[in-house]
Amino acid sequence: MPSTIAIDGPSASGKSTLGGLLAEHLGYIYFDTGVMYRAVTWEAIRRGIPIEDEPALTRLAQEIVIDVTRPTAADGRQYSVFINGEDVTWDLRRDEVDKAVSPVSAYPGVRAALTQQQRRIGQGGHIVMVGRDIGTVVLPEAELKLYLTASLEERARRRYLEKLQRGEQVTYEEVLETLRRRDEIDSSRAVAPLRPADDAIIIDTENLGVQEVFQCVLEIIHDPEH
Ligand code: C5P
Repeated sequence: MPSTIAIDGPSASGKSTLGGLLAEHLGYIYFDTGVMYRAVTWEAIRRGIPIEDEPALTRLAQEIVIDVTRPTAADGRQYSVFINGEDVTWDLRRDEVDKAVSPVSAYPGVRAALTQQQRRIGQGGHIVMVGRDIGTVVLPEAELKLYLTASLEERARRRYLEKLQRGEQVTYEEVLETLRRRDEIDSSRAVAPLRPADDAIIIDTENLGVQEVFQCVLEIIHDPEH
């Protein structure tokens, strides 16, 4: 059984749903690294630090204490996130954060600070870690690397439905445009761009439901040939 599992892929490709299911099934820790980039972004917005101020964002990433714990409320969350002790779990899903997070996570200093913490968390094993660069940069030694994909339109549809369910006022077109921009920035940045590791197994989730993706991964895990 792989002890360290890396799941990467573009936004809304199904990484967090799969990661949560897999971790629960295996009794592993589930860690979604996107929340760390979101936490730095949200804290900057809240403090009025301009997103273009790279040195200030880098200092912020080095300073803030981000804690991710088991869910502390039964409101549909997969985990709780605290910044310097304050619960910001749902703030991290705000539209403002969606729009600003990719520029922030392209800053090398921000990545260095967060990658270091992620490695420390991942090194203990028995973990499913989800992000954009887990298989390539954070945990290149992971025993199983998965890379999920789906078309931009399908991913936008999924994200739009999630937002509707949460009662957010957005249009499908807005969600599509934000995803398109994030994909573009995440894939083209100089440091740790979004791409599958050479030894990653690529799963196209376009026409698969959550359970189908999960079953497919269970087969991979239990296949001694893998
Ligand atoms: O996964 P999620 O959509 O929450 O990630 C938010 C953003 O954080 C991504 O669009 C990407 O810019 C950044 N990110 C990253 N590396 C990771 C995880 C997330 O650059 N390992």
